[in-house]
Amino acid sequence: MYKRSSRCQKGRAWIELDMGNLGHNVEQFKRLLPGTCTLMPAIKANAYGHGAGLVGQALSEMGIQDYCVASVCEAVELREAGITGQILILGYTSPCQFGDLVRYDLTQTVVDLSYARKLNDYGKTIRVHVGIDTGMHRLGERSEDVENICEIWKLRNLTITGVYSHLCASDGNSDGERAFTQKQIAEFEAVVDSLHKRGITGFQTHLQGSYGVLNYPELSYDYARVGIALYGVLSMKNDKTAADIELRPVLSLKARIACVKMLHENEAVGYGLTYTAERDMKMAVVSIGYADGIPRELSNKGCALVNGRRAPVIGRVCMDQLLLDVSKLSDVSAGDEAVFIGRSGDEEINVCEVAGSAGTISNEILSRLGNRLERMPLS
Ligand SMILES: *Cc1c(COP(=O)(O)O)cnc(C)c1O
Repeated sequence: MYKRSSRCQKGRAWIELDMGNLGHNVEQFKRLLPGTCTLMPAIKANAYGHGAGLVGQALSEMGIQDYCVASVCEAVELREAGITGQILILGYTSPCQFGDLVRYDLTQTVVDLSYARKLNDYGKTIRVHVGIDTGMHRLGERSEDVENICEIWKLRNLTITGVYSHLCASDGNSDGERAFTQKQIAEFEAVVDSLHKRGITGFQTHLQGSYGVLNYPELSYDYARVGIALYGVLSMKNDKTAADIELRPVLSLKARIACVKMLHENEAVGYGLTYTAERDMKMAVVSIGYADGIPRELSNKGCALVNGRRAPVIGRVCMDQLLLDVSKLSDVSAGDEAVFIGRSGDEEINVCEVAGSAGTISNEILSRLGNRLERMPLS
C-alpha cells in the first residue's frame, strides 16, 4: 500500500492538529464539570473529521478512559489504534455485527425494548447502556413507558452499566427551548427515580452533550458526552453559552497552491463559467475541493488565507481543486499554502465562519472533511 507518511507531508491538502489546544479544552471541561462527572469525549465521525486514531491516542495520554462513537466500525478502529477504555456506541448496531461487540469489548446502546431482546438472543453477555427518549424522539425507549424500560433488566445476557438520554434543544436560550430542556431533564430523572424505587441500581447516568454542559453546568451526572466543544469550537458563530469557558480550536485545514496565473478582463473561470473577471486579475489554483470537504456551496462565496491575507473563492468549487482571487497579493506563488480553517499571519478563519457561509453548522463542516486529507499533529 502507498504510505503517505513515507512520502512528502503537506503535499497537497492536509489537516494540522494542535493537541496542546485539545488538552486545554479537556482541562476547561474538567474544571467546569462537577468532580463526580467523568468526561466521555464524542469521537464519532472520525473525531469530527480530526482523525479518530490520533485524537483517541492523544486523549488517552491525557488520562481519558471513556469514549463514545456512532458505530461499531468506529469503535473497532479505536481498539485497533490501541484505545483500551470503555467505548460506548451511541447508534444502532446490526445483529450481524453483535459478534464484534463481544470480541472488542464494546458497550452498545439499547435502542428500545425489542432491540434489547435481539441483543439478549445473541446468547453472549453484552454490555449496554439503555437509551431513554425524553423528547427528541430519536433512539431510546419512551420515558413514560417505565414498564418496558424495566423489562430490559430482566434480560439475562445484558450487563446494564448505564442509562442515558439526549437533549435536543440545549443549544437554544429562548424560553421555549429552556422549558423543553427542563422537561427533558425532569423526565430523565423521573425514569432514574422509578428504577431506583424498584431496586434497580448500579448503573451510571448521562444526559449532556457540549451545549448541555455549557448551558446547564449545574447538572450533575456520571458522564458528559462532549463532542464539538472539545475540538474548541461551537456549532454556530453567535451562540451564547451560560458557562464561562475559553475554547481553542484544534484543527487547521490547509492546501497547496498548484499554480498562479492571470485572468484577463471578461474571461470567465471554472465549471459553468460562473465568475467573470471585471478587469485583469491574478488567480491561484488550489489543490483542494469538495471531495475534501470544502462545501460546493462556497463557490463564489468562501475565502482562504494566503500569506496572511484574505483571498476570495472565485468560480465553482471543483471536486479536487478550487480557484482564488489573489489580485491583491503581491507575493503569492505556486507552492504557497492556502489556509481554509485556521490562522495565517494576523488573520484567522474559524470553522464557524465557513459553516455560516455554507448555511450549516461547524459540526457538519468538520465531520465531512475527507479521508484524502493527511492528518498530522503539530510538531
Ligand atoms: C454526537 C452526540 C453527542 C456529542 O454532541 P456534541 O453536541 O458534539 O457535544 C452526545 N450525545 C449523543 C447521543 C450524540 O449523538
